[in-house]
Amino acid sequence: MNHRNIDINISKETSAMLKEVTPFSMQVVRPAGIALDRLPDPAQVIAPGSQLWDVIRGFRQMGLHTLYLPKHVGGLADGLDPMATILLNEQMGYADAGLAISMGVSCMPFALAAMIPDPGLQQLARDFCEDKEGRLIGCWAITEPDHGTDWFLGGANPKCAPGVVAELKGDEYIINGEKSAWVSNGTIATHAVLHVALDPSRGMQGQGLAILPLDLPGISRGKPLDKMGQRPLNQGSILFQEARVPKKYMVIPHPDFMNEAAKGGSGLATVNGGTAIIMAGLARAAFDEALQYAKKRIQGGATLFEHAPIKLKLLRMFSQVEAVRAAVRRMGLYNRQNPAAPAVAHAVAAKCLATETATQVASDAMQIFGGYGLAKEFPIEKMFRDARTSMIEDGVNDALAIKAAEFL
Ligand SMILES: Cc1cc2nc3c(=O)[nH]c(=O)nc-3n(C[C@H](O)[C@H](O)[C@H](O)COP(=O)(O)OP(=O)(O)OC[C@H]3O[C@@H](n4cnc5c(N)ncnc54)[C@H](O)[C@@H]3O)c2cc1C
Repeated sequence: MNHRNIDINISKETSAMLKEVTPFSMQVVRPAGIALDRLPDPAQVIAPGSQLWDVIRGFRQMGLHTLYLPKHVGGLADGLDPMATILLNEQMGYADAGLAISMGVSCMPFALAAMIPDPGLQQLARDFCEDKEGRLIGCWAITEPDHGTDWFLGGANPKCAPGVVAELKGDEYIINGEKSAWVSNGTIATHAVLHVALDPSRGMQGQGLAILPLDLPGISRGKPLDKMGQRPLNQGSILFQEARVPKKYMVIPHPDFMNEAAKGGSGLATVNGGTAIIMAGLARAAFDEALQYAKKRIQGGATLFEHAPIKLKLLRMFSQVEAVRAAVRRMGLYNRQNPAAPAVAHAVAAKCLATETATQVASDAMQIFGGYGLAKEFPIEKMFRDARTSMIEDGVNDALAIKAAEFL
């Protein structure tokens, strides 16, 4: 569809990448998302032969999984026009938000591994970059059944300490506890970025961070989660029962280091900034569907588009989508170029704005479609469910806003 990119500073390389990714996103990712969304059992989404694997392989074969990894491990990040990751992620969100999130989360443990000067972790990052089949899949395991918002607002309150606890015994950590069914890629991931309690008496400020393989003894998974929106995104719990994890995997082994790292808010900015870009894509997709439909559907002897109230609604939706795209691009460009000191409040504001706009625009699009907007046969009801889900994803928007205010 012809939604113009009016940014004038898009490089030839970025335009060429977008030109390559757009057909993949619309011919492979969009139809896969629709088909996976309709599967009644979320276990079918991850079954061998499911279209999820076509998406993962296609994404890998284009090298898109390496966008955030540096050149020294085989990634594309160094020297890449910062606008490229923004436009490519927006396009993935345009095609299917849940699958875009799955692909994005997948690189997290490996991108982090590339930053740690341990030869084993460097090799892991290299293996990920070389993996064109989806043998290595990552997840970010933070939420627990009893601790969701606590991760953002819990502070030093010992009543809010993480339930997944790691105890150092000799050269190993013994890990016990459960990460919740909301972990994206939770049942298919081979590796995790894992948040643990090292000192529960310090509440959420007693944390450490591990990058670990999930095939170690004592680690098991729950069932894939059945949910309302972003159904193509696999989610599920990870259980630790006396899991013995070699010490080297605890990449942040002391709460003081973790608290120091958290002060700059780069984790919060990265995760929220990424979601914002994807959801700007979803907002644009819902608008485009509404516009296209309004130009075809005839009521009162004319197309819907010819009726002034519909034109007004469409222009308002268009303004909202363009405002979000502009805010997200500005934030994304700044943060890509300032990874050590990102604009945290801007990233969280962009996440809240993009998810709320995507939900509003999808709802308005549903209104333009009338009854057909509610029918599974048309794309809008899925887009609405996907968008609404994003207001809870990566932190409930209100809780994120309270946290982000600390960075104003
Ligand atoms: C699509 C999707 C993908 C996700 N992906 C991941 C993932 O990859 N990894 C992962 O670990 N997690 C993931 N999550 C989990 C997500 O981060 C949590 O759902 C979110 O942080 C909220 O936690 P909760 O669901 O336990 O809600 P709760 O924390 O129980 O919050 C419930 C309500 O109470 C409010 N509330 C809670 N505490 C306070 C407080 N102190 N003050 C004021 N209000 C409060 C909240 O704002 C919210 O409205 C994902 C979630 C979704 C929906």
